[in-house]
Amino acid sequence: MNPECVYLLGYKINTFDFETAVEYANSISGQVVTINPEMMSNPDMKDIVNSAELVIPDGIGVQLGLMICGHNVKRIAGIEFAHRMLAEAEKNRQSVALIGAKPEVIEKAKENIQKEFPNLYITYVHDGYFSDTEKILKEIEIRCPRLVLCALGSPKQEMFITQAKKLLPDSLFIGVGGSFDVWSGMVKRAPKIYRAFCLEWLYRTIKEPQRFKRIFPTLPLFVLRVLKERFVPKGV
Ligand code: UDP
Repeated sequence: MNPECVYLLGYKINTFDFETAVEYANSISGQVVTINPEMMSNPDMKDIVNSAELVIPDGIGVQLGLMICGHNVKRIAGIEFAHRMLAEAEKNRQSVALIGAKPEVIEKAKENIQKEFPNLYITYVHDGYFSDTEKILKEIEIRCPRLVLCALGSPKQEMFITQAKKLLPDSLFIGVGGSFDVWSGMVKRAPKIYRAFCLEWLYRTIKEPQRFKRIFPTLPLFVLRVLKERFVPKGV
């Protein structure tokens, strides 16, 4: 399958629909990035994103940016994509590692995942508050899981995955942000009405006001940069 992609502000983004992205992810190994405007405001992320094997547009900001540049691409929520990949791993009898979040969160998330996917082989679980990265890398190298979900927040998770994928060339790594918090039941996902109007970010900001400074001024600046890329001739 040819990985269809476009570039926005110099960042690669694959333009698959949900089902095609799942099919493609099943056929490759490497790094899946669920990209958002915050990542695209961090220059250190550019090389990581552009060398990722699959970049999915997670969030309304990226969808809007793509739309401004004339690309009609539907967003894929990272949490839904990762959930589906767990189902795929169960169906295909592939082993899974879960890394990230606070110790009590990852334990509860693992328990809930195992309940939902009783035949899933979860062969490694670790919280995300470790200092000895080498030790964690060695431990997952020994387990050699096919699917690794990694929730260390961004850019930490993407940097960890960039290192880990060199050791495990047949594994698929997905940076899943706050997904374990949701799967543990300790954080609620935005109600359907917010999701229907693409306002999940607003719900999360209301619930966790400290997120406000992550959105502002990042989001408006991102839109301005996209508008400039689209409408202002290069060199002006
Ligand atoms: N986290 C972690 N180790 C760290 C920092 C964060 O495991 O050193 C976890 C944190 O507990 C949370 C997740 O990473 O479960 C990131 O959540 P956040 O809501 O920031 O992610 P987002 O989806 O916004 O990128």
